[in-house]
Amino acid sequence: MLEINGVTKKFGKTLACDNVSFTLQPGSLTVLLGPNGAGKSTIIKSIIGFLKYQGSITVNGMPNKTVQARRVLGYIPEMPSLYPNLTVIEHMEFIARAYKMTNYKDRIQMLLDRFELADKKKKFGDELSKGMQQKLNLCIGLLPDPDIILMDEPLLGLDPHAIKELKNYIEEMRQAGKTMLISTHIIDSVDMLWDRTIIMQKGTVRANITRPEIEGAGKTLEDIFFEVTEGIEKDDVSHSEAEGSDNSNEQVKGENA
Ligand code: ADP
Repeated sequence: MLEINGVTKKFGKTLACDNVSFTLQPGSLTVLLGPNGAGKSTIIKSIIGFLKYQGSITVNGMPNKTVQARRVLGYIPEMPSLYPNLTVIEHMEFIARAYKMTNYKDRIQMLLDRFELADKKKKFGDELSKGMQQKLNLCIGLLPDPDIILMDEPLLGLDPHAIKELKNYIEEMRQAGKTMLISTHIIDSVDMLWDRTIIMQKGTVRANITRPEIEGAGKTLEDIFFEVTEGIEKDDVSHSEAEGSDNSNEQVKGENA
């Protein structure tokens, strides 16, 4: 279980995350939705241990920056950072060795096949198109097969085949009991079988809601997103709990939020 408790992060005067709390249950797929600048990347980078922040983040009860926590956490960044002097296959083997994986060759081949990079094995990082770099970025992140996977805007820059393949792969990981957090600002891109959606805006969690709760209210994710972020029909959200009189703090919560 991943528990984010009261995380606040400032960049100078910018409050990127303001007292953010949520929990990822084991074996669930959570979508982190919000407009640009909502604080999604900041919370993901805090979870993975790249940023200093106030508050607490634990993985199976252990602080996120411990070796034990890092072992089960995986991260697919929005921007690939590849080595220009390593080929595709060298990137994959480098990661496999860094994670002390054994018998990784079949897994590397499977990922490169699925994301159509098998014929690019000998290409260097800086010889790949942007889309190919994104696909290698994905293959690198998926290679160690972590129990908890954080993906920051994973569909951006991918071609239709890779988008379909990644969605299939996400569904397979879900069935295998992986815990996933996928951030995006594009509502249409999350038509996969997510279990929970967390909507962030201006550094705060504005809604934390399960799929049955949305469907039970006869609404779509898009309806909820605009109700929450633009205040449309906000009095009509049957499961909302206003926190204080200031609407900017209003948050829609699911039962288990
Ligand atoms: P999102 O991922 O939802 O688009 P971010 O977490 O990237 O949002 O950004 C949240 C806020 O923090 C934005 O106002 C952004 O400009 C600011 N921010 C993010 N990273 C930095 C940084 N390294 N330095 C200064 N400001 C930052």
